[in-house]
Amino acid sequence: MNDVLIIGGGLAGLTAGMYCRMRKLSATVVDAGRPGGQLVSLYGDKPVHDWPGHVNVVANDLAQQLLDHALELGVEVVSGHKVDDLTRTDDGFEAQARDVLSGEVHRYGGRAVIIAIGGGAYEPRRLRVPGEDQLTEECLTYRMPDRARAAGRDVVVIGGGDSGLESAQSAHQAGGRVTMVQALDRFTGMETNIERVDAMNIRRHFNTRVRSLEIEDGRLRAVVAQTKGAPEPLRLPCDYLVVNIGQAVNLEGVKRWGVEVEGSQIKVDGHMRTSVEGVLACGDVVTYDGKYKLLLTAASEGCVAANSAYQYVRKPTRVTMTDLYS
Ligand SMILES: Cc1cc2nc3c(=O)[nH]c(=O)nc-3n(C[C@H](O)[C@H](O)[C@H](O)COP(=O)(O)OP(=O)(O)OC[C@H]3O[C@@H](n4cnc5c(N)ncnc54)[C@H](O)[C@@H]3O)c2cc1C
Repeated sequence: MNDVLIIGGGLAGLTAGMYCRMRKLSATVVDAGRPGGQLVSLYGDKPVHDWPGHVNVVANDLAQQLLDHALELGVEVVSGHKVDDLTRTDDGFEAQARDVLSGEVHRYGGRAVIIAIGGGAYEPRRLRVPGEDQLTEECLTYRMPDRARAAGRDVVVIGGGDSGLESAQSAHQAGGRVTMVQALDRFTGMETNIERVDAMNIRRHFNTRVRSLEIEDGRLRAVVAQTKGAPEPLRLPCDYLVVNIGQAVNLEGVKRWGVEVEGSQIKVDGHMRTSVEGVLACGDVVTYDGKYKLLLTAASEGCVAANSAYQYVRKPTRVTMTDLYS
């Protein structure tokens, strides 16, 4: 039995694990995929510009540093086990997890639990246009574009939030001819990302939605899109399509665990406590007044959740942070 069982090994879960060890709590992180979460699964090659102490750090490298740090502090990390169920036991909680390859069932116990599952099992939003399902990774991705594939190709990026803006930059830097298509009348990402895309003179079409795809012999040739108010649709030559229009979040599992959710997120208080005593949550999966979905806030919340788990498990008469300074 662990002192703390952490479900999800993205930035929030790994930081929570590190902080548990700072408090001398035993901690196991169980992740459905690869530890590192979105850093490795969605944008491994992308430079991160807002991690303190690094002007920029490649996402894969940041994830590796965090994992090394967690392991060094004694966090147990399990990959490829997806937690399906969480139940209360006499002395804490038991999670039932499934090996995503073999289907084998594993059980993990914790006196307290921290849920850090980000967007849950990643399900990208699709365009839902005919032909989309028949395209392969060679010409369609819902993640950051593969730089080797983007080089020398006509790349169309759908979506004007941070993911789309960063995909466009990455494809441009890799030598792709990039056009962005955004349904709204403006980009919605951070100013720095918009400035970089402006500086690269990346073509863009606002108020524009994809209507169909031109596909010949299984290969993508063009994207047909309609701009609001325009008499004719646009035909954008394209042999590599990048769709970054968000993720469909599925928290059905979490609801089954008895934790109160609001929309597609878990409600927490300032201590990262959920509606179930002994179950904390942190990272992209949580909501509270003033929540930002960022690496830095995920790390901060991981620290808060770990300290709350410490209070729940050890019940110290007094909690100070100064014991962590030495
Ligand atoms: C393209 C893109 C670029 C971004 N760039 C930046 C940036 O430059 N700076 C910044 O601050 N933020 C950035 N973000 C946001 C940042 O990545 C997230 O806020 C952060 O990764 C959230 O971390 P997390 O640990 O909460 O979730 P995640 O990273 O999503 O990790 C959750 C983990 O939980 C696991 N999991 C899910 N369900 C289960 C289950 N049932 N059982 C076990 N494991 C499970 C998943 O496999 C995953 O590893 C970006 C996001 C995107 C999409």
